[in-house]
Amino acid sequence: MPGRPFLQIPGPTLVPEMVMRAISQPLIDHRGPKFAALLREVLKGLRDVFQTKEGQIVLYPGSGTGAWEASIVNTLSPGDRVLGCVNGHFSALFCQTARAFGIEVDVIEAPYGVGIAADQVEERLHGDKGHKIKAVIVVHNETSTGVTSNVAAIRHGMDRIGHPALFVVDTVSSLGSIDFRFDEWKVDVALTGPQKGLMLPPGMAILAISEKALLASRAARCPRSFWDWTPVLERNSRGEFPYTPATALIFGLKESLSMLAEEGLAQVFWRHARLAEACRRAVRGMGLKLLPKNEQEYSNTVTAVCMSDGFDSDAFVAHAQKTLDLSLGIGLGKVKGKVFRIGHLGSLNELELLGSLAAVEMALKSFGIAVPMGAGLAAAESYLMEAPTHVAGA
Ligand code: PLP
Repeated sequence: MPGRPFLQIPGPTLVPEMVMRAISQPLIDHRGPKFAALLREVLKGLRDVFQTKEGQIVLYPGSGTGAWEASIVNTLSPGDRVLGCVNGHFSALFCQTARAFGIEVDVIEAPYGVGIAADQVEERLHGDKGHKIKAVIVVHNETSTGVTSNVAAIRHGMDRIGHPALFVVDTVSSLGSIDFRFDEWKVDVALTGPQKGLMLPPGMAILAISEKALLASRAARCPRSFWDWTPVLERNSRGEFPYTPATALIFGLKESLSMLAEEGLAQVFWRHARLAEACRRAVRGMGLKLLPKNEQEYSNTVTAVCMSDGFDSDAFVAHAQKTLDLSLGIGLGKVKGKVFRIGHLGSLNELELLGSLAAVEMALKSFGIAVPMGAGLAAAESYLMEAPTHVAGA
């Protein structure tokens, strides 16, 4: 189809032209001085996006799933106990990764559509008098349900009772889009991929790690080789990697990090918040319901929409793709067939969002759902006209 593709899945997102150009530069020697300077720059830029001064960055070729594995094998030993917070498909899979390495996972489960309750985490940890729980595992933004958990509140709970567990947070669909503060929230391992807020093609696993996580890795006995972060950190300090890095993606990363820095993180977060609110108003205007239950947990990167009764959401997603070349996210895990997801993250502006919302309305109508044509768009447009485009000072 001519024109811009409408890739409104919650990642990968469309890659900005400038980033694509950076990626298509001629490759350079990954053991040479130019690469060392590039690496220094992207590691610094990533620290800014994770909002850390002290944390160290570890980059691997891979994906978010690989980053899960890296976070587990570097910090834990078989037989260790962790507290796994599950409120959707990705958090369940993260815990599954831990189990694959012989980690015992005590689960706190919240229904799909609800965030992890900080007081429940605190209560569980409070009951762990012998400090057997070695880590708390949370997904900041559960991409399958469009729910953002309050990571700061979970940290406060851990601090209140003085529990020494490591704090491991998946930021795959929040970093670079939703405020995430590695230092302030005393996170020990934060992990992500490049294909969402960082606006790159998929192909990397990215971690930020604390001093405490680094110490834990010395005692951790999970088998590890490729994901062992010790040689990566050691060779990174000399401007190189123990393997062939994803050089082209690192070119792109330098560009995308400078785009984020230029826009300013506060403005990036506000742009996402504003577009997300417009999307939610549009969905309600179409007469459909949101999956997330609590307003303060609404995700600013993905909106999960409950399908009208009697219709299958996966069939709707296929229909939107076929009729309008609009790519939406399918329902995952327990809400398969019941929910579709609109991604609104990364390099996105209001006109692109409005185009996507118009397409959602049209696709719903031609799928046989009685949506009032234009009502969703009108709700989004009205909101966008009244909500300021910039945060104060940006
Ligand atoms: N964690 C979250 C929250 C995700 O949304 C995803 C993928 O969408 C993953 C982990 C897995 O990442 P990947 O598909 O890059 O392996």
